[in-house]
Amino acid sequence: MSSLRLMPTLRRQGHPLADPLAQQQILAALPVPPFNVTLAAHGLEPLRAGPRVEVLQINVGRRCNQTCRHCHVDAGPDRTEIMPPEIISACLDLLARWQIPVLDITGGAPEMHPAFATIVRRARALGCHVIDRCNLTIAQLPNYRYLPRFFAEQQVEIIASLPAPDPAGTDGQRGDGVFAQSIATLRELNALGYGQSGSGLLLNLIANPTGPYLPDPQGMLESHWRAVLAEQYGIVFNRLYTLTNVPISRYLACLHESGQLNDYIQLLVQSFNPATVAGLMCRTTLSVGWDGRLYDCDFNQMLDLALPQTILQVTLPDLVQRDIRTAAHCYACTAAAGST
Ligand code: SF4
Repeated sequence: MSSLRLMPTLRRQGHPLADPLAQQQILAALPVPPFNVTLAAHGLEPLRAGPRVEVLQINVGRRCNQTCRHCHVDAGPDRTEIMPPEIISACLDLLARWQIPVLDITGGAPEMHPAFATIVRRARALGCHVIDRCNLTIAQLPNYRYLPRFFAEQQVEIIASLPAPDPAGTDGQRGDGVFAQSIATLRELNALGYGQSGSGLLLNLIANPTGPYLPDPQGMLESHWRAVLAEQYGIVFNRLYTLTNVPISRYLACLHESGQLNDYIQLLVQSFNPATVAGLMCRTTLSVGWDGRLYDCDFNQMLDLALPQTILQVTLPDLVQRDIRTAAHCYACTAAAGST
């Protein structure tokens, strides 16, 4: 296996925007209406969580074998944060006590957590649907070759990010060699039944734009990807989701330094679509940081917009109908058709 080209994380560079507070300040200073003012103008304020936690999303650590240009986690091989055993136990306890139907495991590369397989097995034993946010290349590393078969045995849904169905678009954003290794893993998953109709093994892809613009309409993009990946690489998948790049962390730094931040945020604001608000993931998700702090979503986690309680203290009444913390980055979730 060829090694991937890696870029330094913001943390490793000592970059000022490695600090979530500095990111919050840049977002707060942008010349756009506060997100909740826009919601109010459409009669949609306040933004509140729903009556149940439908998805527990756990970020088990920031370590990753890649350093993608748009990573909102600033993940990479040099990150050392890792979810400790007592927080893992608290997450599994919450799944059981509150009968949360879905566990969504993310990172970094979540599979690099030493307890990854244990977490999956225990959540499946509780009857949870388990989603793994997989970067695909991890399964080509010697210590992780077990993953495709393990995923199939445990019936884990794979949500895999791939910026483009071609080497140039994907490697440009994620590093040299990422596309070829991603295709190798997709072929292995297909061979195990993933993405094949009737198998029950879900393989969903996520595409995000490679520049400061909105994704093309999901249906159109999905048809194009289905044709290209099938004809050129013999790969099948279930659904393609489109994700608007959220201006935080490495992507915020990239926009800021290239002088494109203001134009990009204006594009997001002008594309505000009130119909997306009912389906925002923060209404049904509880996001858990590696250290047990709680957030409305993974993006708020990276900006340090935490809830008052940690997972060791929280009660269900603390979360039900809670006010959601918003800032200018939220416009990425409500632009055009919304971001899944
Ligand atoms: S960034 Fe998070 S809190 Fe803001 S709208 Fe999106 S999901 Fe909700």
